[in-house]
Amino acid sequence: MAGAAKKRELDFTALPPSAVTEYTTRLCLACIFDIFTAQLGLAPRTAYSEIKKHSPSVEELTARDAKRPYFHTEEKHPRCPYCDAAKRWHARLDTYRIEGGKQTDAARRALIKSLPKSEDQFLIVEKKSTRRAVFFDWLDNLMRGLDLDEDAWLIEATRAFLERNDPKTGWAEIFEGVRAVRRSNRLEEGFEREGARLYLSPPLYNDALLVQYLVSRSHKHGGRTLEGRLTLMDLVRRMRYGGYLESRGITERDQFEILEQLVEHLTGGDAPVKLYYVVDRRDFLDKVKTVYAAYAS
Ligand SMILES: [Zn+2]
Repeated sequence: MAGAAKKRELDFTALPPSAVTEYTTRLCLACIFDIFTAQLGLAPRTAYSEIKKHSPSVEELTARDAKRPYFHTEEKHPRCPYCDAAKRWHARLDTYRIEGGKQTDAARRALIKSLPKSEDQFLIVEKKSTRRAVFFDWLDNLMRGLDLDEDAWLIEATRAFLERNDPKTGWAEIFEGVRAVRRSNRLEEGFEREGARLYLSPPLYNDALLVQYLVSRSHKHGGRTLEGRLTLMDLVRRMRYGGYLESRGITERDQFEILEQLVEHLTGGDAPVKLYYVVDRRDFLDKVKTVYAAYAS
């Protein structure tokens, strides 16, 4: 079983990890069959071919709050929250979102080309988005994995940002044993490791502060950063220090305007980005077959 499961896994190693977001949802086939046969009065055979053609929308596949017949679970032997059906009635749908762009296009094309084509085992859906929207999706995902009550998140969030910002650098190794992250005015760009400390050049450090602020600003009062708890005014003051705002061409006086401009700069703003969703329907197709067999017999 483990071998078979492994074989089915897709290989995303040629893509930067931060460019791929994974979503998993479950679909209850008992619920669907029930709708088609009991409510719509279709014969099981017709219901089967209709259901096989079913292609869920990206919204259904990636929603945080699932609606019938979709549901989310972490359990090993879950039951359908709507009709209590056991696991053999559930189909798992994995969806992978790949950010388009120079760093991913070639690897994405190769990956999609390598997928089996028969029976629509995989669906590829393209959507247009903006750099800003993709950034905030990423931030949202990051926040879910952080414990804001433990100080370790500050370093975790810094590392996640650096990985996203510069996927080619081996950040895992660089962060090994890091206990503190500091600003270094000696560095014009990049970073330097010294013992358990990681020094970042002011531009990188400021971007990391901004990410920390955005992660935690709704948490208690003000945002929490490597520089302690900061109100927006404090943050803007730090950003002004060393001519950072000037160097970014930000001349606004209003702090909310400045934040807007900083975010624009950090995220890439309205610049268009294409998103490619790879929907893995293999488990769905398998389960539809076995469920139909059970119905027909
Ligand atoms: Zn159900």
